[in-house]
Amino acid sequence: MPIHEKSLIRPENLVEQDELVVDGIDVSGHWSTFITSRAVTDYNEKMQDEIAGLAGGEFIHRCWQCGSCTNACTINALNNDFNPRYWIYLIRMGMEEELLLDKDIIWQCVSCNKCTYACPRDVNPEGVMKATAHWLELKGHTPKSPSMIFDEGFSEQVFKTGKIEDGLVLRQFFAATGQKLTQTWLVSMVVGLIKRMPLTMLTRLGLATFFRPRTSNWGAARAAIDEYVSEKRNENHRLLGLDKMEDGR
Ligand code: SF4
Ligand code: SF4
Repeated sequence: MPIHEKSLIRPENLVEQDELVVDGIDVSGHWSTFITSRAVTDYNEKMQDEIAGLAGGEFIHRCWQCGSCTNACTINALNNDFNPRYWIYLIRMGMEEELLLDKDIIWQCVSCNKCTYACPRDVNPEGVMKATAHWLELKGHTPKSPSMIFDEGFSEQVFKTGKIEDGLVLRQFFAATGQKLTQTWLVSMVVGLIKRMPLTMLTRLGLATFFRPRTSNWGAARAAIDEYVSEKRNENHRLLGLDKMEDGR
């Protein structure tokens, strides 16, 4: 697979001589640049399979490195280092250590799906970004992201009751991420809602805070979901060779 716009040359492997004259010609600085050799010995041969086994990563093998995803990417337009095509290349090559150099920016994907619409091979690059961020967390390379914490709280409520109580989701999220509930934007939003919402709706919302809504006869659905989720977790566990799932469940 070709490497288009970002090479695997690390800055420390680029060497320049401040002052160098060869055969009477001054080749100081940039003109004397050479690359010291580097052997990559840390391949993870299972890496593509590991990402493909997580939700969203299923079609990574289809990528033909055209670069349309990176070209369309919202975040790449702001930061050249955010490069889905390049990360897919590294994953397919099993170059785990190289991918880890960018571990602190991969989570920045905003799920706009521009890449997904641009991809001619239906790779679902947005899904691959999510799977990669999840993989980094499961392997303990990065802490759990706020969006992952939110997703977990949200899912837990749906699994338990078959319904969502927005206030509870927000309270749990703020508590889990160490944020104050009295965020300025949240206070203005709530005040705005109180002013505009019909009284009946407000009463229902208020009651939902004390009496959590739940879908009737949810027990069977809940048992089936629990079984599926546990099956998927064990699958991920086996696939990534983890002794203990990093999400603590
Ligand atoms: S979904 Fe993520 S990777 Fe795709 S274009 Fe948007 S920000 Fe970029
Ligand atoms: S647009 Fe699709 S095929 Fe092209 S590099 Fe991105 S993921 Fe690969």
